Amino acid sequence: MGRITGPVCRLCRRDGLKLFLKGSRCDTPKCAFERRSTPPGVVQKRRPKPTDYGLRLREKQKVKHYYGVLERQFRTYFSRAERGKGNTGETLMTLLERRLDNVVHRLGFAPSRAAARQMVMHGHITINGRRLDIPSYLVKPGDLVRVKNRAKSLQLAHAALADFRRDVPDFLSRIEGAIPEARVDRLPGADDVSIPVQANLIIELCSK
Ligand code: SF4
Repeated sequence: MGRITGPVCRLCRRDGLKLFLKGSRCDTPKCAFERRSTPPGVVQKRRPKPTDYGLRLREKQKVKHYYGVLERQFRTYFSRAERGKGNTGETLMTLLERRLDNVVHRLGFAPSRAAARQMVMHGHITINGRRLDIPSYLVKPGDLVRVKNRAKSLQLAHAALADFRRDVPDFLSRIEGAIPEARVDRLPGADDVSIPVQANLIIELCSK
């Protein structure tokens, strides 16, 4: 997929947060973040206290890794959030939450955002009955997100749904049926954002 660099579990440890980059493994005791990184009795080396800049940068990197976006794309979201009405941090996060790859993942049709991006790019997802292969498409209220009625697409989605253990966010409603599909009921709000992040720190960093 070529977006996330370095071993994914190291990113979780570095960002101090479960980033859910390894699909269903992240929900099991095998998750490297849940396991002790040092054997009992061994004292872990303390990291130096991060600077203010370091803290802000870490929040930004965390969000970029979580949603799988590159710096340039991130800047585009930031500019759009800055131009929007309301709280810039909240707008930034809800824009990212509206990405089609994120929505496909949060509906459980793909085990990770990276897998969801791949599914979208390979044409396994339709929006309002039309194939849409742009992972950065921003869903809007009324959109119908559906897995393509094709054996391979259905197989991928059903395999992911079989392992899905989380709740579908409130702004989406899954429609029961043989073909996985869901409707976007409304735009996501701050409460629908699935990552604990101090967006104000990111705004301070990017506004300079
Ligand atoms: Fe992060 Fe755990 Fe998933 Fe590894 S298994 S990517 S540590 S959440």
